[in-house]
Amino acid sequence: MSAAFVMMTGYGVSPGLACAPLVRMTPPVVTDPDEEPGADPGHEVQRIRQALTDVAAQLTVIATGGTAGAILEAVAAMAGDPALVRAAADHIGKGMATAHSLSLAIDEYCAQLEETGGYMAERAADLRDIRNRAVALLLDVPLPGIPRPGHPFILAAEDLSPADTAQLAEGDVVGLLTERGGPTGHTAILARSLGLPAVVGCPQAATLPHGTLVLLDGWAGAVEPHPSAQRRQQAVEAALVRTQPRATGPGHTADQHAVTLLSNIGTLADAARAAQADNEGVGLFRTEFLFLSRREPPTLEEQIQAYSQVFTAFEDRPVTVRTLDAGSDKPLPFLHLPREDNPALGIRGLRTATLCPGIVETQLQALVTAQRRTGARMRVMAPMVSTAEEAAEFAALARSCGVQTVGIMIEVPSAALGADRVLQHVDFVSIGTNDLSQYTLAADRTSHTLGHLLDPWQHALLTLVARVCRAAAVLSRPVGVCGEAAADPLLALVLAGLGVSSLSMAAPAVAAVRDALAQFTLVQCRSLADAVLDAPGPAAARDTARQMSDAFRTTAHDREGL
Ligand code: PEP
Ligand code: MG
Repeated sequence: MSAAFVMMTGYGVSPGLACAPLVRMTPPVVTDPDEEPGADPGHEVQRIRQALTDVAAQLTVIATGGTAGAILEAVAAMAGDPALVRAAADHIGKGMATAHSLSLAIDEYCAQLEETGGYMAERAADLRDIRNRAVALLLDVPLPGIPRPGHPFILAAEDLSPADTAQLAEGDVVGLLTERGGPTGHTAILARSLGLPAVVGCPQAATLPHGTLVLLDGWAGAVEPHPSAQRRQQAVEAALVRTQPRATGPGHTADQHAVTLLSNIGTLADAARAAQADNEGVGLFRTEFLFLSRREPPTLEEQIQAYSQVFTAFEDRPVTVRTLDAGSDKPLPFLHLPREDNPALGIRGLRTATLCPGIVETQLQALVTAQRRTGARMRVMAPMVSTAEEAAEFAALARSCGVQTVGIMIEVPSAALGADRVLQHVDFVSIGTNDLSQYTLAADRTSHTLGHLLDPWQHALLTLVARVCRAAAVLSRPVGVCGEAAADPLLALVLAGLGVSSLSMAAPAVAAVRDALAQFTLVQCRSLADAVLDAPGPAAARDTARQMSDAFRTTAHDREGL
């Protein structure tokens, strides 16, 4: 019996096609407030301590590297926080059962974090994951998380925790579908780095029963329940056309205009994987992984070792390193940053260097030493630069440490608007569209409900990109894009048309972007860019680009047929 055809939509955040039965995450156990308390409160507190220690150990084992590793290590550190045990012990003292006491204590913490908002609210999801695991251990029931049905499946969940996503690589999961989440959230970034097709922010997915056969299109953000055999065949054929890499090697348009295709990396494991792939180097090396979940900053020698490892993996391909981007959604305990009501607008990115100058200087020294030891083609850029003065100060500091090619990230509207001034001081810029969207549209990038504002096809964002490109052209400076926008093959055409000279993305996304660029001339990309800037909104911009590129393709095929 076939159900009515209902196409559902969300954000297509990781490209690819998957067709498989939908399997829901194993739900967490709900604790019973009326359960009998244990006889010996001291013993019950000890059981909670042990359960949390075991969860921390499990998470540390799962954190075997990759983008998820650094996030998970931070979550494991949360599980080891003695304050959780103390709060649960209070409830045990009031006569509650053990598992319920822990559950209540963690819920109270989550409520406080959610009240704080922003990054702290996101951490509540991590704490709930800790609670669910610890409660399962205390009650001796199966751990919640990725199911193992023994066949390929599309994993459906309300949202995924970093611990869940880290286990995806080993299982039979062929696609991801979440009710919550947006284009720049953790699930999106991790799905892309694993090359798993994913649609997030699709609330209707909650209505799909376990076992429903689903066709999931990570390009279009579409989810089709009960696809007919004919629809499945059509989709597979369309996907084959999209995924057959026609081009290899350096990126360029059909008329050989170069658009350098680079990878984003966030850990040594990412670097090792990306170094094996067909790309032209690294456009964004997020160095935070070395600093996260530490009580002391990494030493000079430790940093030299890590950077040398990455440089060696990429041999003669350039590696663009971003200096520490701490604060806001990446808090570091040893920085002792003051508590802020609006951390995303506070001391973060390059601004932390004003409070803790030694950290960036040591990092720059480590980078230069690693570069000299390995002979790497290194470029160094600073995150979250707001003004030309900041760009000048960073460039002077980096050059005084021996960095030869210095750049900055454009992630703040003031830097985009003042690109002509900023560019006077640096050799290149790289546009971080994730943060530039957040700050331009005043939409928290960790929000589950503001995805439409964070859409990289937003007119204001693309207008700023165009402005940066115009300023860079006058000074003959290269402009890269290293935010998630760079991984969208259709948008890549627009960015190339606007004058972007390099695109940096998760390694598995490079092939599709390369193929897209190779099919169109620079003039065609420019006319796409003009039309997109004239479109009234993001959906119309996307449709315009799709229709125009289809028309260009048809004309080219007709010509070939003559
Ligand atoms: C960005 O903001 O677009 C970016 C690439 O930096 P991150 O996602 O690490 O903040
Ligand atoms: Mg950023």
